[in-house]
Amino acid sequence: MRNEPAVEVAGLVKRYGTRTAVDGLDLAVPRGSVTAVLGPNGAGKTTTVEVCEGYRRPDGGSVRVLGLDPVTQGAALRPRIGVMLQAGGVYPGAYAEEMLRHTAALHAHPIDPALLIERLGLESCGRTTYRRLSGGQQQRLALAMAVVGRPELVFLDEPTAGLDPQARHATWDLVRELRADGATVVLTTHFMDEAEQLADQVVIIDGGRSIAHGTPEELCRGGAEGTLRFIGRPGLDLASLLKALPADSAAAELSPGSYRIEGKVDPQLLATVTSWCAQHGVLPDRLSVERRTLEDVFLELTGRELRR
Ligand code: ATP
Repeated sequence: MRNEPAVEVAGLVKRYGTRTAVDGLDLAVPRGSVTAVLGPNGAGKTTTVEVCEGYRRPDGGSVRVLGLDPVTQGAALRPRIGVMLQAGGVYPGAYAEEMLRHTAALHAHPIDPALLIERLGLESCGRTTYRRLSGGQQQRLALAMAVVGRPELVFLDEPTAGLDPQARHATWDLVRELRADGATVVLTTHFMDEAEQLADQVVIIDGGRSIAHGTPEELCRGGAEGTLRFIGRPGLDLASLLKALPADSAAAELSPGSYRIEGKVDPQLLATVTSWCAQHGVLPDRLSVERRTLEDVFLELTGRELRR
């Protein structure tokens, strides 16, 4: 059915021995969307994706991918999905172009491999074996192999890790084109800007569970906390300004004449501050509004401690 999600995961549990890597995770990926799965190291992203790809058997919960069970219906599912693994998954002694052409030949309506080679800047790599490619070239080849068969659904595990800025942008363009062609893309990433640039939906997971999801805008709007900054004459009466602002606001003079106001940043707050400034003969110079970024939200939700 076209309306059912491309990926539907409910209560997924996956253990490695005594370690629970995924602990009751729910995930729904709408068709034709780009979903970015974010999470600290060890959160369970790769494990979840690998279960969806049929590489790992779940210990609990249910997983449907394009309406199929990846474990029992893997043979029907595999030709319809494209997979880019974190660690290659490619025969190291094979030539780059040969491998891509071979993968293309397995599909009924592949993208022209020459086009992908050009798009991903792999022209000089055709007669090079996979093991002799640079890390970034290996990544780009793995991406080309994941998409060459025009899959309905593509899983990209950290597709731009270790890529130079040019290759990152080429990868982003390719992801946008896949979506424009109607494909569904699920990607994991540690780059918040990548998620902001590409994702229709962001899912944040931690401790093997989904802890937040929504569009990047929805997640950044949550709580609506933000910061307003301006430069004015030193020593403004901030107690008087605070009286005009909502109770949960904070105001500080960070250095002489440099002010920061924190709170629910909305048009009303801006109007209150500028009108207070007007009443006190202050021109709020370089007045700026800073909204929360996805990185702020991510750190608020998952904390700042390093994962071990
Ligand atoms: P990263 O951002 O570091 O790639 P991740 O979110 O993809 O992390 P996973 O690779 O899914 O996390 O790992 C989740 C947990 O499961 C971690 O604690 C990890 O050590 C453990 N784990 C992953 N693969 C295995 C395995 N093959 N055997 C045992 N434990 C594993």
